[in-house]
Amino acid sequence: MKKEICSHQSDALNHTINHLGQSLGATAVGFSDLSILPEQKRMGFNRAITILIKLSNGILNQIGEEPTQTYFSHYRSVNRLLDDISLRLLLSLEALGYPSVAIPASQSVADPNDSFTGAFSHKTGAVLAGLGWIGRSALFIHQRYGPRVRLSTILTNAPFNVGDPVTESGCGSCRVCVTACPAQAIEGQLWTPGMARNQLYDAFACSQQMKEAYQHIGRGAVCGLCMVRCPIGQ
Ligand code: SF4
Ligand code: SF4
Repeated sequence: MKKEICSHQSDALNHTINHLGQSLGATAVGFSDLSILPEQKRMGFNRAITILIKLSNGILNQIGEEPTQTYFSHYRSVNRLLDDISLRLLLSLEALGYPSVAIPASQSVADPNDSFTGAFSHKTGAVLAGLGWIGRSALFIHQRYGPRVRLSTILTNAPFNVGDPVTESGCGSCRVCVTACPAQAIEGQLWTPGMARNQLYDAFACSQQMKEAYQHIGRGAVCGLCMVRCPIGQ
């Protein structure tokens, strides 16, 4: 049976999710309407909750010409915390009667067209929630913290209020990440909504650089130079 819900109840749902997320360690929580996306891209759900954690400036500021082992550990720890917060929020939503799906912070799925993609794009959810835009680097750029964030997502039909999507890049004339990338993987295009990721950067060239140059740091899983050089959030 369809649940009837008034705006007061929607506000209360936003408040409950936001409060729980932040009390568990999220820096920010975003709410989005996914209905503009094709159904198979959103697993049939029409809303998303974005959970955002700001990375440590102390750790990121130690990155000079290459990533550090401390950054590699931090990256994995933050992903674990995101997954824990998602699970707790998911259980709370289901207790309220809203079946939901938590998308892991870092997980690639088998896709014949893109071997570096996840089950749902966290960045798309964050942009639709109005938290920021996609940079020339193809990273999500939070309006305050820049690319120094990690994200996870919960897909749901819970009837909370949603944010206003961001529809313009805030990169302006900046091209810092384009010149910082050691793999020349960043094309330098300004993002517009709906743009394919490969128009912004070459995910294969990026992955190869990480595997070849930084294997000794973290099995090639991290580089992050485009992130730490971005002036937004420094
Ligand atoms: S992570 Fe490194 S290799 Fe990949 S795009 Fe950014 S700077 Fe280039
Ligand atoms: S370094 Fe400059 S161009 Fe690249 S994502 Fe950041 S603001 Fe945008």
